[in-house]
Amino acid sequence: MKILVTGGMGFIGSAVVRLAVARGHEVVNLDALTYAACKANVATVADAPGYSFVEADIRDRAALDRIFAEHAPDAVMHLAAESHVDRSIDAPGTFVETNVTGTYTLLEAARAYWTHAGRPEAFRFHHISTDEVYGSLPADPSLKFTEETPYDPRSPYSASKAASDHLVRAWHETYGLPVVLTNCSNNYGPYHFPEKLIPVTILNALAGKALPIYGDGSNVRDWLYVEDHADALLLVVEKGQVGRSYNIGGENEWTNLDLVRALCAILDEKRPREGGSYAEQIAFVTDRPGHDARYAIDPARVRDELGWHPSVTVEEGLAKTVQWYLDNEDWWRALQSREGVGTRLGVAS
Ligand code: NAD
Repeated sequence: MKILVTGGMGFIGSAVVRLAVARGHEVVNLDALTYAACKANVATVADAPGYSFVEADIRDRAALDRIFAEHAPDAVMHLAAESHVDRSIDAPGTFVETNVTGTYTLLEAARAYWTHAGRPEAFRFHHISTDEVYGSLPADPSLKFTEETPYDPRSPYSASKAASDHLVRAWHETYGLPVVLTNCSNNYGPYHFPEKLIPVTILNALAGKALPIYGDGSNVRDWLYVEDHADALLLVVEKGQVGRSYNIGGENEWTNLDLVRALCAILDEKRPREGGSYAEQIAFVTDRPGHDARYAIDPARVRDELGWHPSVTVEEGLAKTVQWYLDNEDWWRALQSREGVGTRLGVAS
């Protein structure tokens, strides 16, 4: 397949690019190179045959029309977005512009291209979204997000992603655009931007700084290794049923406090700290406004229909991730030195 990946210089997009190229797909990586982008994320495939990069903004319709005409993709995998919840609380307008207006502009460019090409049945527009559109779950472990769970977004980020999901479904119902959607739980793994919880914890631990935890640390997230997410996304774009949504999750529910403690335990083994465990650096900070209590995904559809299953347990994935940050100091130091990048949760500058 020739796949146009938007946001391919980001965390998940670059994992998709690396895996798609490894599997022999042609990939056009479209990215506006915002603060969250890093060209080094795709360094391993930059010279691969069939890989190309184009710097463009998904809100720029003329640029999108040129890119569709020049590259004639068989599929679009749309990951470009503003993705940081804390930043969405500080500056919601950017999230509406990129996630809502940007998705609308990309849908219109894709529709024009697809229509002009004779409405090929095999074309796919794959929208990559989040489980945060479903809102917050109570503690009862039998309750999980399914594809039928009503939307109830509660942050500017999740509201903008919910809006973009609705646009994508509307373009299918109204214009027949062959779309598939995925809603995934929290990702972690190599190349995770140093402002997010897991990298903040690893890097602050190594720097001897406080390990910030919102509220009392009881918020529950369902963690998935990013390379397993990329694998699920490629399955969905290749084999998913048109018009359908697939929830993707690792069935790994952890409280934030337990997650940070687990990271400290891995670091204690790999890079022992003088004077005791890294867990001594844990510090509770004022909770994020509107902080959702619990997310948990029921991945039965993607598992039963498409045969997807994660390749690593969360314990294996966290150990690989910690090792990756220990081995790739140049990567994270370069990003940390970018203007406006924070090292505390809730602080984006
Ligand atoms: P990221 O912030 O790491 O990367 C986003 C990329 O999009 C960056 O490379 C950025 O330069 C690019 N981008 C931003 N605005 C753009 C624009 N206007 N035009 C073109 N490119 C632009 O994000 P991520 O964590 O990799 O998330 C990717 C997608 O997956 C997002 O849509 C996000 O909502 C979704 N998602 C993320 C998670 C997670 O845990 N990170 C979980 C589920 C779903």
